[in-house]
Amino acid sequence: MHLANENSTPRSIAIVGAGQAGLLLGCALLDKGYAVTMVTNRTAEDVWNGKVMSSQFIFDPALQIERDFGLDQWEADCPRTEGISFSIPTPDGSGNKAIHWHARLDAYGQSVDQRVKMPGWMKEFVRRGGDLRFEDVGVPGLENLAAAHELVLLAGGKGEIVNLLGRDDSRSPVRQPMRQLALSYVTGMKRHDYYECVNFNLIPGVGEYFVFPALTTAGAQGTQACDIMVFEGVPGGPMDCWADVKSPEQHLETSLNVLKTFVPWEYERSRDCQLTDPNGILAGRITPTVRNAVLTLPSGRKVFGMGDAVLVNDPITGQGSNNATKGAKHYHDAILARGAAPFDEAWMRQTFDALYTGYAEKVVSWTNSLLFPPPEYIVKLLGSAQQVPAIASRIANGFNDPRDFANYWFDPAAADRLIESEMQKLAA
Ligand SMILES: Cc1cc2nc3c(=O)[nH]c(=O)nc-3n(C[C@H](O)[C@H](O)[C@H](O)COP(=O)(O)OP(=O)(O)OC[C@H]3O[C@@H](n4cnc5c(N)ncnc54)[C@H](O)[C@@H]3O)c2cc1C
Repeated sequence: MHLANENSTPRSIAIVGAGQAGLLLGCALLDKGYAVTMVTNRTAEDVWNGKVMSSQFIFDPALQIERDFGLDQWEADCPRTEGISFSIPTPDGSGNKAIHWHARLDAYGQSVDQRVKMPGWMKEFVRRGGDLRFEDVGVPGLENLAAAHELVLLAGGKGEIVNLLGRDDSRSPVRQPMRQLALSYVTGMKRHDYYECVNFNLIPGVGEYFVFPALTTAGAQGTQACDIMVFEGVPGGPMDCWADVKSPEQHLETSLNVLKTFVPWEYERSRDCQLTDPNGILAGRITPTVRNAVLTLPSGRKVFGMGDAVLVNDPITGQGSNNATKGAKHYHDAILARGAAPFDEAWMRQTFDALYTGYAEKVVSWTNSLLFPPPEYIVKLLGSAQQVPAIASRIANGFNDPRDFANYWFDPAAADRLIESEMQKLAA
């Protein structure tokens, strides 16, 4: 491996933003002998004591990357989610399910609250020899980092600074937020009578509700199991109801009202839930955006974007942290493969384009497709999964690697072929 530059010192890399993407890459590069500086705008205490930021569910292929990088320290404590369940209520408002199925994932997934994970990884970053600094980085800060390092990565998530990268219109067909989002972290939820699932409920015209187990904070240092409720309300519809919520108590009350009205089977097991803590709530909107991967600073130096800074999806398919993780691994491999050669603009563009065309593009199209009312053939496909376990399993395991959806999701004829062939196998 070529680790040293022409001066025979370790290659120096700066990362702005200590989130899922930046910390994974930073810790992994330290292990390989790189000199890594991480600059972020919130301390570990700020993050631990702050509001929840995500529901951060991670499927097995991304969990495996965390394991491979030695960053899986909560795996034993975090509840395991073994499958995906899917429901659509009947349109008559009777509270019955028109479609319901569940299918096992090939391997379990997990959600560790970023308030737990990021402070833990910051500690690990420093333990591995990283230089962790706290600063709200702007253009002057980027210039300083670029003057002193061979490569600067911008992993600022949804921070204002990432807008400097500029939107790539050709890759960002959705131009406004398509859902009003809300999160409630709760304890006291009753379990259902099958394996733990990401329980996905699609309420046509209203939005989506999904809920799954997770590990969150408990007091100043501890952790506890919880469940995360995720609400995705169609703007202007009855689940877009968070604007007047003024307190955590109201937030929980609103959450339970939504469940009672639209998914009573979820309400039944949630009615006694309590918030994990007053910060276990969030409401907001996201515009799905692909940004340009390279920023040219006034000095002419280049900065390379990663994670949500370049690829932000609506959380409807739970892929953002998964993308950030797979992207960090892709960048890690490209940095190692670069040896002692310069991290120039051409290399940056080639590295991002390989990630985008080889993987992320498919995730973006599938995620965006779910933001629009499902066409008839998709409703048929989702309904057929109730009769045909192999179809349910295929859809569920698509969450591990959404590239598989390209084989049948976007084409009515391909979806029909899938249904027919699996039905024939079942009948044989
Ligand atoms: C409601 C919701 C639910 C979600 N649920 C899921 C899910 O279930 N599964 C999933 O895979 N994904 C989910 N996501 C997406 C996921 O949280 C993100 O994709 C992921 O956190 C992106 O990682 P990142 O490292 O790019 O950014 P982040 O994790 O956001 O980290 C960015 C870091 O940059 C820092 N920063 C920002 N600006 C600056 C600055 N100017 N200077 C210095 N530091 C800065 C921030 O403090 C932060 O530390 C969800 C998102 C939302 C909003």
